[in-house]
This record gives sequence, structure tokens and C-alpha cells, in this order.
Amino acid sequence: MCRNERRFCRCGRNSASLLFRDNLLYPEVLINLYCPLCQDQTVWNEAIMLRDCGWILEYDIPGAQALLQQQGVRSTATPEFLFDEGYLSWQGLSPGDQDLNAALHRRLAPLIEDDLARYLESMKSEWLRHVAELKVAGWRKAQKA
Ligand SMILES: [Zn+2]
Repeated sequence: MCRNERRFCRCGRNSASLLFRDNLLYPEVLINLYCPLCQDQTVWNEAIMLRDCGWILEYDIPGAQALLQQQGVRSTATPEFLFDEGYLSWQGLSPGDQDLNAALHRRLAPLIEDDLARYLESMKSEWLRHVAELKVAGWRKAQKA
């Protein structure tokens, strides 16, 4: 089971949907989350932070390492590892992906009864367009999508 959680950033003006792959890490492992509006409130430290399009995730790396080891994950915990492997990362490809996905479903839902094929086609093409936009914008997870 993967856990999902919404977390507000330091200034409280933005929030992100987070994914905890296999539920190995606790929400507390993310010490701080900074959005583009509050990223200046911290001092950049690449040993414990990951930057993604103006957002900064600050991790408790020793804590993460202990939890992973306890559960048999032998890799060295780094911000990049935790993020890229999905142990504590965005749900989706960017902080707002889950909301966007829900909105897309709501908007296209009326099509389901009228024209299921068109619904599926629209769903797919709109999502692919979204992913392409994220890729161009430079979102880290979108680069591999
Ligand atoms: Zn903020």
C-alpha cells in the first residue's frame, strides 16, 4: 500500500499531494516543504534538499535512512533517491497533479454516458498534453514520463 497525503508549504499559500511508496517513510521525514513563494525562507542545502521548479523538499535524511534500512532497502538515502524512487515524492508528476486529474475527470465525466470512446480519447489526449507541458516547464518527474 502507498500512502497519500496533502501537505501545506511553509507559508501556507500552496499545498502538494505527496506519495509515500510502500508506506515506508513517515510524513515527518519531510521536515519542510517550500513553495515558489516561500523558498527564500530557507538556506539551500543539497545534502538534505531537493529542488523542483521552485519547490523545495527538505528531508530528514538520517531518519529516512534508518527507516529504509529497517525495512530492507539497502540504498543510501539521498534527496534524489527518496524523490525519484517515490518513497516521498509528488503524487503524480507535480504538486498539483492529483487536483488536476480530479478536475479533468469531473469535467469530462458527462461524456461517459454520451460517448465513452470520446471520453477515453479526450482523457488520454488532455493528460498527455499536461505531461508535455510539465516536461517543458522542467518538472523532474515529468522528464522520465
Ligand atoms: Zn509557500
